[in-house]
Amino acid sequence: ETPIERKPEWIKTRAKMGPEYTALQSLVKSEGLHTVCQSAGCPNIFECWEDKEATFLIGGDQCTRRCDFCQIDTGKPQPLDRDEPRRVAESVQKMGLKYATITGVARDDLPDGGAWLYAETVRAIHEMNPGTGVENLIPDFNGKPDLLTEVFESRPEVLAHNVETVPRIFKRIRPAFRYDRSLDVITQARDFGLVTKSNLILGMGETREEVSQALRDLHEAGCELITITQYLRPSPRHHPVERWVKPEEFVELKDEADEIGFAGALSGPLVRSSYRAGRLYQQAMDA
Ligand code: SF4
Ligand code: SF4
Repeated sequence: ETPIERKPEWIKTRAKMGPEYTALQSLVKSEGLHTVCQSAGCPNIFECWEDKEATFLIGGDQCTRRCDFCQIDTGKPQPLDRDEPRRVAESVQKMGLKYATITGVARDDLPDGGAWLYAETVRAIHEMNPGTGVENLIPDFNGKPDLLTEVFESRPEVLAHNVETVPRIFKRIRPAFRYDRSLDVITQARDFGLVTKSNLILGMGETREEVSQALRDLHEAGCELITITQYLRPSPRHHPVERWVKPEEFVELKDEADEIGFAGALSGPLVRSSYRAGRLYQQAMDA
């Protein structure tokens, strides 16, 4: 283990188990439910679950794309599971969630890129859980307006699409995506009338000035909510950690995002794009 691989002190978390977390944890276990919060070993689970917020992965566990920071396997996906939206909606109901983030793999193997699946999952959750907010964190559907519109029409409370990194290193980090196309996905969602959100992962080789520029690009593209996070290397096969961003720099970036004009920003070493997502959405609505 090289020194850069060693996590700094501020990356470590302490478990603070509240009553809602404990209740959800035993329910999820007894009902055999699957959340990203648990499968990814997310350090924020005590906080998010205490607020009755969780994240689900749809489309299977094999992605047709390969991003250099992502722990999801690349391979041939299973056939489309048309019952998945109902099961996810039922999990949301059983867990009594206030806010659910839905994310998934890219399904370039399907003629619609998985647009129906993403849209139907939002519809199913809303139908079964009238008071629950849904954040749909989508792949880019190659920027195709007809597929994106199909997804937008399901009217998630927040439509998220993550650029994750800056233009100079984008191709290396996300070979199957394009920076400008991702910005355009956000613009299309904004023009449709949805609340939009994106994420930047720091520590993959970007410079400070490039982060500022990306924030300005995103805001200009119509992005309203932003999360800024630290990269953690899932395995030695993945992109190395180039730097550990200090907590103070995350605070500066949050201030910068506010100044640029984002309606809500969360920035920190342990922030994830779905971290306290319902709160961030609510904060933006109240503003
Ligand atoms: Fe991971 Fe999404 Fe990239 Fe697939 S498209 S490798 S799920 S980040
Ligand atoms: Fe779950 Fe996202 Fe919160 Fe982690 S940050 S616990 S994945 S909702």
